[in-house]
Amino acid sequence: MKDAWGRTIEYVRLSLTDACNFCCPYCRPAEITPQSQHQLLSVDEWMTILGAFHQVGVKAVRLTGGEPLLYPHIEELLERIKATGWFEDISMTTNGSLLSSRAQRLKKLGLNRVNISLDSLESEAFATCVGKEGQLESVLEGIRSAINANFKSVKINTVLSRYWSDEEVKSLLQYVEKWPVVWRFIEYMPFQGDAFHGPTFDEWKAQLERVSGGPLTEVHSIYGFGPATYLALPSGKAVGFIFSMSHSYCDTCNRVRLTSDGQMRLCLLRDDEADLVSLVRNGATAEALAEHIERALQRKQERHDGIGMDKPERPMWRIGG
Ligand code: SAM
Ligand code: SF4
Repeated sequence: MKDAWGRTIEYVRLSLTDACNFCCPYCRPAEITPQSQHQLLSVDEWMTILGAFHQVGVKAVRLTGGEPLLYPHIEELLERIKATGWFEDISMTTNGSLLSSRAQRLKKLGLNRVNISLDSLESEAFATCVGKEGQLESVLEGIRSAINANFKSVKINTVLSRYWSDEEVKSLLQYVEKWPVVWRFIEYMPFQGDAFHGPTFDEWKAQLERVSGGPLTEVHSIYGFGPATYLALPSGKAVGFIFSMSHSYCDTCNRVRLTSDGQMRLCLLRDDEADLVSLVRNGATAEALAEHIERALQRKQERHDGIGMDKPERPMWRIGG
Protein backbone atom coordinates (compact mmCIF):
# COMPACT_ATOMS: atom_id res chain seq x y z
CA MET A 1 0.00 0.00 0.00
CA LYS A 2 1.45 3.36 -1.06
CA ASP A 3 0.56 6.76 0.33
CA ALA A 4 0.27 9.94 -1.73
CA TRP A 5 4.03 10.57 -1.30
CA GLY A 6 5.04 7.18 -2.72
CA ARG A 7 5.96 5.67 0.65
CA THR A 8 5.17 1.99 1.17
CA ILE A 9 3.14 1.42 4.32
CA GLU A 10 3.87 -2.05 5.67
CA TYR A 11 3.79 -1.69 9.45
CA VAL A 12 0.89 -1.15 11.83
CA ARG A 13 0.98 -0.44 15.57
CA LEU A 14 -2.06 -1.33 17.66
CA SER A 15 -2.75 0.45 20.92
CA LEU A 16 -4.76 -2.25 22.67
CA THR A 17 -5.78 -0.18 25.69
CA ASP A 18 -5.23 3.30 27.08
CA ALA A 19 -5.00 1.89 30.60
CA CYS A 20 -1.58 1.97 32.23
CA ASN A 21 -0.17 1.14 35.64
CA PHE A 22 2.50 3.87 35.32
CA CYS A 23 2.25 7.66 35.00
CA CYS A 24 5.40 8.69 33.15
CA PRO A 25 5.30 12.51 33.28
CA TYR A 26 6.15 13.02 29.58
CA CYS A 27 3.37 10.64 28.52
CA ARG A 28 0.53 10.27 31.01
CA PRO A 29 1.31 12.62 33.87
CA ALA A 30 -1.56 11.99 36.28
CA GLU A 31 -3.34 8.91 37.56
CA ILE A 32 -6.04 8.79 34.87
CA THR A 33 -9.09 6.60 34.83
CA PRO A 34 -8.91 4.83 31.50
CA GLN A 35 -11.72 5.86 29.22
CA SER A 36 -12.02 2.69 27.30
CA GLN A 37 -10.82 -0.29 29.32
CA HIS A 38 -14.47 -1.35 29.50
CA GLN A 39 -15.18 -0.67 25.84
CA LEU A 40 -12.07 -2.08 24.23
CA LEU A 41 -12.11 -3.59 20.79
CA SER A 42 -12.78 -7.32 20.96
CA VAL A 43 -10.37 -9.86 19.53
CA ASP A 44 -12.82 -10.44 16.63
CA GLU A 45 -12.84 -6.70 15.86
CA TRP A 46 -9.04 -6.50 15.90
CA MET A 47 -8.85 -9.56 13.64
CA THR A 48 -11.20 -7.98 11.07
CA ILE A 49 -9.08 -4.83 11.08
CA LEU A 50 -5.84 -6.81 10.82
CA GLY A 51 -7.31 -8.87 7.96
CA ALA A 52 -7.83 -5.61 6.08
CA PHE A 53 -4.27 -4.46 6.77
CA HIS A 54 -2.99 -7.82 5.56
CA GLN A 55 -4.94 -7.33 2.33
CA VAL A 56 -3.31 -3.96 1.70
CA GLY A 57 0.16 -5.42 2.17
CA VAL A 58 1.08 -4.78 5.80
CA LYS A 59 3.82 -7.19 6.94
CA ALA A 60 4.47 -6.34 10.57
CA VAL A 61 2.40 -5.67 13.66
CA ARG A 62 3.35 -4.15 17.01
CA LEU A 63 1.14 -4.37 20.10
CA THR A 64 1.36 -1.36 22.39
CA GLY A 65 -0.77 0.91 24.59
CA GLY A 66 -1.17 2.33 27.32
CA GLU A 67 0.24 -0.84 28.75
CA PRO A 68 -0.56 -3.69 26.32
CA LEU A 69 -0.26 -6.35 29.03
CA LEU A 70 -3.38 -4.84 30.64
CA TYR A 71 -5.46 -5.76 27.57
CA PRO A 72 -7.46 -8.67 28.98
CA HIS A 73 -7.47 -10.80 25.78
CA ILE A 74 -3.86 -10.38 24.74
CA GLU A 75 -3.03 -14.09 24.71
CA GLU A 76 -6.02 -14.98 22.53
CA LEU A 77 -5.21 -12.09 20.20
CA LEU A 78 -1.59 -13.19 19.78
CA GLU A 79 -2.55 -16.79 19.20
CA ARG A 80 -5.05 -15.81 16.51
CA ILE A 81 -2.65 -13.41 14.80
CA LYS A 82 0.02 -16.09 14.67
CA ALA A 83 -2.42 -18.73 13.34
CA THR A 84 -3.25 -16.56 10.31
CA GLY A 85 0.38 -16.40 9.15
CA TRP A 86 -0.43 -12.91 7.78
CA PHE A 87 2.54 -11.10 9.30
CA GLU A 88 6.26 -11.82 9.21
CA ASP A 89 6.86 -9.98 12.49
CA ILE A 90 4.80 -9.61 15.66
CA SER A 91 6.31 -7.42 18.37
CA MET A 92 5.31 -5.57 21.54
CA THR A 93 6.29 -2.38 23.38
CA THR A 94 5.73 -2.67 27.13
CA ASN A 95 6.82 -0.99 30.34
CA GLY A 96 7.99 -4.46 31.41
CA SER A 97 6.51 -4.40 34.91
CA LEU A 98 3.96 -7.14 34.21
CA LEU A 99 6.15 -9.20 31.92
CA SER A 100 8.20 -11.51 34.11
CA SER A 101 5.63 -14.27 34.62
CA ARG A 102 4.35 -14.01 31.05
CA ALA A 103 7.35 -13.71 28.75
CA GLN A 104 7.76 -17.44 27.98
CA ARG A 105 4.06 -17.88 27.28
CA LEU A 106 3.87 -14.81 25.03
CA LYS A 107 6.85 -16.12 23.07
CA LYS A 108 5.11 -19.50 22.61
CA LEU A 109 1.95 -17.76 21.43
CA GLY A 110 3.83 -16.01 18.63
CA LEU A 111 5.43 -12.85 19.95
CA ASN A 112 8.77 -12.47 18.12
CA ARG A 113 10.29 -9.39 19.67
CA VAL A 114 9.82 -7.16 22.67
CA ASN A 115 10.78 -3.54 23.42
CA ILE A 116 10.88 -2.50 27.07
CA SER A 117 10.95 1.08 28.32
CA LEU A 118 13.55 1.95 30.94
CA ASP A 119 14.49 5.55 31.70
CA SER A 120 16.72 5.09 34.75
CA LEU A 121 18.56 2.33 36.61
CA GLU A 122 18.48 4.03 39.97
CA SER A 123 15.35 3.32 42.03
CA GLU A 124 14.56 6.87 43.21
CA ALA A 125 15.05 8.41 39.80
CA PHE A 126 13.06 5.54 38.26
CA ALA A 127 10.13 6.32 40.57
CA THR A 128 10.12 9.89 39.22
CA CYS A 129 10.30 8.57 35.65
CA VAL A 130 7.22 6.32 36.03
CA GLY A 131 5.33 8.35 38.64
CA LYS A 132 5.25 5.46 41.10
CA GLU A 133 7.48 4.14 43.89
CA GLY A 134 9.06 0.71 44.08
CA GLN A 135 8.69 -0.41 40.46
CA LEU A 136 12.27 -0.74 39.21
CA GLU A 137 12.76 -4.35 40.33
CA SER A 138 9.62 -5.58 38.55
CA VAL A 139 10.83 -3.98 35.31
CA LEU A 140 14.34 -5.44 35.68
CA GLU A 141 12.69 -8.84 36.31
CA GLY A 142 10.66 -8.30 33.14
CA ILE A 143 13.84 -7.57 31.17
CA ARG A 144 15.59 -10.66 32.56
CA SER A 145 12.61 -12.85 31.71
CA ALA A 146 12.48 -11.46 28.17
CA ILE A 147 16.19 -12.21 27.71
CA ASN A 148 15.67 -15.76 29.04
CA ALA A 149 12.66 -16.33 26.78
CA ASN A 150 14.92 -15.98 23.73
CA PHE A 151 12.93 -13.48 21.73
CA LYS A 152 14.40 -12.62 18.35
CA SER A 153 15.33 -9.31 19.94
CA VAL A 154 14.93 -7.51 23.24
CA LYS A 155 15.27 -3.76 22.88
CA ILE A 156 15.39 -1.17 25.64
CA ASN A 157 13.85 2.27 24.99
CA THR A 158 15.21 5.17 27.02
CA VAL A 159 13.45 8.50 26.50
CA LEU A 160 15.72 11.51 26.89
CA SER A 161 13.32 13.98 28.47
CA ARG A 162 16.12 15.86 30.28
CA TYR A 163 19.85 16.44 29.98
CA TRP A 164 22.03 13.78 31.67
CA SER A 165 25.27 14.35 33.55
CA ASP A 166 28.38 12.59 32.24
CA GLU A 167 28.43 10.54 35.47
CA GLU A 168 24.90 9.23 34.78
CA VAL A 169 25.78 8.43 31.18
CA LYS A 170 28.87 6.57 32.33
CA SER A 171 26.86 4.38 34.66
CA LEU A 172 24.17 3.79 32.00
CA LEU A 173 26.81 2.72 29.49
CA GLN A 174 27.94 -0.05 31.84
CA TYR A 175 24.48 -1.65 31.46
CA VAL A 176 24.41 -0.97 27.73
CA GLU A 177 27.69 -2.87 27.35
CA LYS A 178 26.74 -5.71 29.69
CA TRP A 179 23.18 -6.70 28.78
CA PRO A 180 22.41 -8.79 25.67
CA VAL A 181 19.87 -6.24 24.43
CA VAL A 182 19.68 -3.53 21.79
CA TRP A 183 19.56 -0.15 23.55
CA ARG A 184 17.83 2.78 21.88
CA PHE A 185 17.65 6.42 22.92
CA ILE A 186 14.46 8.30 22.08
CA GLU A 187 14.16 12.06 21.78
CA TYR A 188 11.36 13.64 23.82
CA MET A 189 8.35 14.43 21.61
CA PRO A 190 6.23 17.38 22.78
CA PHE A 191 3.12 15.53 23.93
CA GLN A 192 3.35 17.54 27.15
CA GLY A 193 4.24 20.72 25.27
CA ASP A 194 7.58 22.25 26.20
CA ALA A 195 7.54 20.90 29.78
CA PHE A 196 10.58 18.72 28.97
CA HIS A 197 13.84 19.35 27.17
CA GLY A 198 16.42 16.76 26.33
CA PRO A 199 19.46 16.57 24.05
CA THR A 200 19.22 16.70 20.26
CA PHE A 201 20.76 13.95 18.11
CA ASP A 202 24.08 15.81 17.79
CA GLU A 203 24.25 16.69 21.48
CA TRP A 204 23.57 13.11 22.62
CA LYS A 205 26.05 11.65 20.12
CA ALA A 206 28.72 14.11 21.30
CA GLN A 207 28.04 13.22 24.94
CA LEU A 208 28.28 9.46 24.25
CA GLU A 209 31.55 10.06 22.41
CA ARG A 210 32.95 12.14 25.26
CA VAL A 211 31.97 9.63 27.95
CA SER A 212 32.88 6.47 26.05
CA GLY A 213 36.19 7.98 24.97
CA GLY A 214 36.01 7.65 21.18
CA PRO A 215 33.99 8.31 18.03
CA LEU A 216 30.70 6.54 17.32
CA THR A 217 30.82 4.78 13.97
CA GLU A 218 28.05 3.81 11.56
CA VAL A 219 26.70 0.28 11.59
CA HIS A 220 24.33 -1.41 9.22
CA SER A 221 20.91 -2.92 9.72
CA ILE A 222 19.69 -4.25 13.01
CA TYR A 223 16.51 -6.27 12.65
CA GLY A 224 13.26 -4.32 12.89
CA PHE A 225 10.77 -2.14 11.03
CA GLY A 226 11.55 1.08 12.89
CA PRO A 227 13.40 4.25 11.96
CA ALA A 228 16.32 3.99 14.41
CA THR A 229 19.79 5.02 13.28
CA TYR A 230 22.38 2.66 14.77
CA LEU A 231 25.89 3.73 15.72
CA ALA A 232 28.62 1.65 17.38
CA LEU A 233 30.31 2.69 20.61
CA PRO A 234 34.13 2.38 20.67
CA SER A 235 33.64 -1.11 22.19
CA GLY A 236 31.73 -2.17 19.06
CA LYS A 237 28.36 -2.36 20.82
CA ALA A 238 25.64 -0.73 18.69
CA VAL A 239 23.14 1.72 20.15
CA GLY A 240 20.03 3.14 18.45
CA PHE A 241 19.00 6.77 18.08
CA ILE A 242 15.34 7.65 17.44
CA PHE A 243 15.37 11.42 17.22
CA SER A 244 12.17 12.17 15.38
CA MET A 245 12.21 15.88 16.21
CA SER A 246 15.79 16.97 15.51
CA HIS A 247 16.42 14.32 12.83
CA SER A 248 13.17 13.68 10.93
CA TYR A 249 12.43 10.20 9.51
CA CYS A 250 9.30 11.27 7.61
CA ASP A 251 10.79 10.48 4.16
CA THR A 252 10.97 6.80 5.04
CA CYS A 253 7.84 6.53 7.20
CA ASN A 254 6.35 3.06 6.70
CA ARG A 255 3.61 2.93 9.31
CA VAL A 256 0.20 3.87 10.62
CA ARG A 257 -1.18 3.51 14.13
CA LEU A 258 -4.46 2.20 15.49
CA THR A 259 -5.78 3.72 18.70
CA SER A 260 -7.53 1.71 21.39
CA ASP A 261 -10.82 3.33 20.38
CA GLY A 262 -10.46 2.03 16.84
CA GLN A 263 -9.16 5.05 14.90
CA MET A 264 -6.40 4.84 12.31
CA ARG A 265 -3.90 7.58 13.13
CA LEU A 266 -1.96 8.58 10.05
CA CYS A 267 1.01 10.23 11.82
CA LEU A 268 2.09 10.00 15.46
CA LEU A 269 2.64 13.75 15.59
CA ARG A 270 -0.44 14.93 13.68
CA ASP A 271 -4.07 14.60 14.67
CA ASP A 272 -5.36 13.29 11.31
CA GLU A 273 -7.35 10.12 11.98
CA ALA A 274 -9.85 7.86 10.21
CA ASP A 275 -12.58 5.91 11.96
CA LEU A 276 -12.30 2.15 11.46
CA VAL A 277 -14.23 0.73 14.38
CA SER A 278 -17.61 2.15 13.30
CA LEU A 279 -17.29 0.36 9.97
CA VAL A 280 -16.39 -2.89 11.71
CA ARG A 281 -19.33 -2.53 14.11
CA ASN A 282 -21.62 -1.88 11.16
CA GLY A 283 -20.58 -5.21 9.65
CA ALA A 284 -17.98 -4.09 7.07
CA THR A 285 -16.00 -6.93 5.54
CA ALA A 286 -12.19 -6.92 5.55
CA GLU A 287 -12.37 -6.07 1.79
CA ALA A 288 -14.55 -2.99 2.37
CA LEU A 289 -12.34 -1.96 5.25
CA ALA A 290 -9.21 -2.38 3.11
CA GLU A 291 -10.65 0.02 0.50
CA HIS A 292 -11.51 2.53 3.22
CA ILE A 293 -7.97 2.27 4.65
CA GLU A 294 -6.35 2.83 1.26
CA ARG A 295 -8.51 5.89 0.61
CA ALA A 296 -7.89 7.34 4.08
CA LEU A 297 -4.16 6.77 3.76
CA GLN A 298 -4.01 9.28 0.91
CA ARG A 299 -4.58 11.95 3.58
CA LYS A 300 -1.30 11.06 5.30
CA GLN A 301 0.78 14.22 5.17
CA GLU A 302 4.34 14.43 3.96
CA ARG A 303 5.93 15.30 7.31
CA HIS A 304 5.33 16.54 10.82
CA ASP A 305 6.06 20.14 11.80
CA GLY A 306 9.26 19.38 13.75
CA ILE A 307 10.68 21.26 16.71
CA GLY A 308 8.29 24.05 17.71
CA MET A 309 5.21 22.13 16.49
CA ASP A 310 1.90 22.44 18.33
CA LYS A 311 1.26 19.80 20.94
CA PRO A 312 -0.87 16.99 19.42
CA GLU A 313 -4.43 16.84 20.79
CA ARG A 314 -4.47 13.12 21.47
CA PRO A 315 -1.96 12.31 24.24
CA MET A 316 0.78 9.72 23.81
CA TRP A 317 -0.78 7.14 26.13
CA ARG A 318 -3.94 7.20 23.98
CA ILE A 319 -1.99 6.68 20.73
CA GLY A 320 0.52 4.02 21.56
CA GLY A 321 4.03 5.39 21.02
N1 SAM B 1 3.44 1.40 28.13
C1 SAM B 1 4.34 0.90 27.16
C2 SAM B 1 5.74 1.44 27.37
O1 SAM B 1 5.91 2.39 28.14
O2 SAM B 1 6.65 0.91 26.74
C3 SAM B 1 3.90 1.14 25.73
C4 SAM B 1 3.29 2.46 25.41
S1 SAM B 1 4.38 3.86 25.51
C5 SAM B 1 3.31 5.18 25.01
C6 SAM B 1 5.42 3.58 24.10
C7 SAM B 1 6.73 4.31 24.09
O3 SAM B 1 6.50 5.70 23.95
C8 SAM B 1 7.56 4.13 25.34
O4 SAM B 1 8.87 3.70 24.98
C9 SAM B 1 7.61 5.51 25.93
O5 SAM B 1 8.79 5.76 26.65
C10 SAM B 1 7.48 6.39 24.69
N2 SAM B 1 7.00 7.74 24.97
C11 SAM B 1 5.92 8.10 25.70
N3 SAM B 1 5.78 9.45 25.72
C12 SAM B 1 6.81 9.96 24.98
C13 SAM B 1 7.22 11.28 24.61
N4 SAM B 1 6.53 12.35 24.99
N5 SAM B 1 8.30 11.40 23.85
C14 SAM B 1 9.01 10.31 23.43
N6 SAM B 1 8.67 9.04 23.73
C15 SAM B 1 7.59 8.86 24.50
FE1 SF4 C 1 2.34 4.11 30.65
FE2 SF4 C 1 4.11 3.60 28.73
FE3 SF4 C 1 3.02 6.04 28.95
FE4 SF4 C 1 4.72 5.24 30.79
S1 SF4 C 1 5.18 5.56 28.61
S2 SF4 C 1 2.71 6.21 31.18
S3 SF4 C 1 4.33 3.09 30.90
S4 SF4 C 1 1.94 4.19 28.43
